[in-house]
Amino acid sequence: MKYSVVIPCYNEQEVIELFIERIRAVMDGLKDTYELIFVDDGSRDATLALLRKQARDDKRIKILALSRNFGHQAAVTAGLKYAIGDAVIVIDSDLQDPPEVIPEMVAEWNKGYKIVFGRRRKRRKEGLFKRVTAFVYYRLVKKLAGIEIPKDTGDFRLLDHSAVLALNAMPEHNRYLRGMNAWIGMRQGEVVFDRDPRAAGKTKYTLKKMCKLAGDGILGFSNKPLTAVLATGAIMNVLSVLCAIAALICHLSGVAVTGLVWLSTLGLWLTSILVTSVGLIGVYIGRIYDEVKDRPDYIVADRVNF
Ligand code: UDP
Ligand code: MG
Repeated sequence: MKYSVVIPCYNEQEVIELFIERIRAVMDGLKDTYELIFVDDGSRDATLALLRKQARDDKRIKILALSRNFGHQAAVTAGLKYAIGDAVIVIDSDLQDPPEVIPEMVAEWNKGYKIVFGRRRKRRKEGLFKRVTAFVYYRLVKKLAGIEIPKDTGDFRLLDHSAVLALNAMPEHNRYLRGMNAWIGMRQGEVVFDRDPRAAGKTKYTLKKMCKLAGDGILGFSNKPLTAVLATGAIMNVLSVLCAIAALICHLSGVAVTGLVWLSTLGLWLTSILVTSVGLIGVYIGRIYDEVKDRPDYIVADRVNF
């Protein structure tokens, strides 16, 4: 098999047929063998039924039906496990990542790049909130993570078979594929494209899912927040010793040390820092717990054409 395309879908009944039409046209143009792996991430609408209908007539259309909604990253992870192509393309099913960019990615791959990611030039018709948060977040990740996650890339990319094997061999849960991609290294190229608006339907990435993904990116790749807590504690320690010395000097030189308000404010501040620190450590422990439980990231309920 030359090419595998991994497509996570969650409640995409409005676009899925149009998507299949466009991806098929592009992949046929490459004039080689390919498979389209649709990972149905527990859709509650007609997505799975529509996929099944298409898969009956075209054996190159394969379906992995997950037993419930496990989230986008888990769905892509599942697809990568099953993909057997020499090159594997990961693409959203809402046509925000234009399939027509794939031949350009293939051209870069043929030049020897092991990972070719799609970098967004413009965020057309996306809300100000999403543009601003994405801008800030990508730069924050770069600062904190210590490894460079390429700016303004999503999960739209081409992976050489060797890169897929490397990703599949990473056993961690709470997967943040963009970061993992950067972490495995290898020769990385890019293709710049304009991200289109969604062809139909609404975003399936709720604010909660976005926050989870953002957290995975930072917590999964950086211990710096923990270090920051330690540093804050150390600075506060020095400050409190200085305060004590100042109070002692005042007392010895006969100045009355009052200021209950000042003291209680300080107390509150100390407590808030403490609670924040404990919370932050708790977040990391929670992640350790997740890893130790070692549950699978997804469960495949059904497979079609495999
Ligand atoms: N998706 C998924 N599981 C989810 C959420 C989203 O498989 O829990 C899929 C969705 O069908 C789409 C892709 O992931 O193909 C990207 O999601 P979406 O377009 O909603 O995110 P956005 O582009 O708004 O960030
Ligand atoms: Mg989208």
